[in-house]
Amino acid sequence: MNKPYSILLYYCYTPIEDPEAFREQHHLFCLELNLLGRIIVSKEGLNGTVSGLKEDCDKYMAAMHADPRFAKIDFKVDESDKHAFAKLHVRTKAEIVHSGLLHIDPNVRTGKHLAPKEFKEMKDRDDVVVVDMRSDYEYTVGRFKNAVTLDIENFREFPEKVEELKEKFKDKKILTYCTGGIKCEKASAFLLEQGFEDVYQLHGGIIKYGKEAGGEDFEGKCYVFDNRVAVDVNSVNPKVISTCHVCGTPDDRMVNCANPVCNLHVAICEKCGWELDGACSTECKEHPEKRPYDGTGYYQKEMNGYNPLKGFNRKKKTDVQV
Ligand SMILES: [Zn+2]
Ligand SMILES: [Zn+2]
Repeated sequence: MNKPYSILLYYCYTPIEDPEAFREQHHLFCLELNLLGRIIVSKEGLNGTVSGLKEDCDKYMAAMHADPRFAKIDFKVDESDKHAFAKLHVRTKAEIVHSGLLHIDPNVRTGKHLAPKEFKEMKDRDDVVVVDMRSDYEYTVGRFKNAVTLDIENFREFPEKVEELKEKFKDKKILTYCTGGIKCEKASAFLLEQGFEDVYQLHGGIIKYGKEAGGEDFEGKCYVFDNRVAVDVNSVNPKVISTCHVCGTPDDRMVNCANPVCNLHVAICEKCGWELDGACSTECKEHPEKRPYDGTGYYQKEMNGYNPLKGFNRKKKTDVQV
């Protein structure tokens, strides 16, 4: 315990009047704190995951909480030996998670938030259906036992799947969950709009459930969008649900294929990893551009020429008011 770095995961649906101006100022603030990661800013709020020294992350959280717009942010904090990102991106987009549901404001109406312990208590009832709001590559690595999953590669496809849910579960209580809770804000609101009456969402997502409810009945690992790729959340009754892509034995060691052209992201066991030298197949093993395998299956992106100031637009002299 007490590792030097923190990894933060957070979001906030709150009106931001001038997203571009906010973005620039926020980017500079993150640079000053030596944070790395990805932050999306929009008129509807912000969505971020960053890493930095613990004291810098603490300063960041304190500053955010001191701003009335962001006072309600529920930061999910993990400790780490090092940064979990190689770069810093602060970008503006139309939505903080692309759903196409621009008309929905979760501050007006959304599914009822359940604390991890409430979710745990409700999820196995007969009149309840647990729905995973994440994409196929995420729930393949890990999901709640008995959860309904959607055949989607991206969250923007979710609205198309609601008819299927209606046909099967119209009269059930719906409990939604995702990684950190952000997707469920709009997804549960959309389910209410579509006529579902009892809709709940896991507040803080799988990550918070791991911390506060021991991750009970979450099978496999939780996919995350940083260098860790997937994290353990279940300390109560963990189970491996994925199998080695090569030999089929149960294994949850996620790697990228060492052939950069393939780069397939799958589970490969330790033994097959060494036998295929980090590749997913013999063809990939023989590929001329195959990267050297160090046993991790993780390949740092090319960092030459990266400058943390990249993406930060300094105002032109003429714009500066004196
Ligand atoms: Zn294997
Ligand atoms: Zn491959």
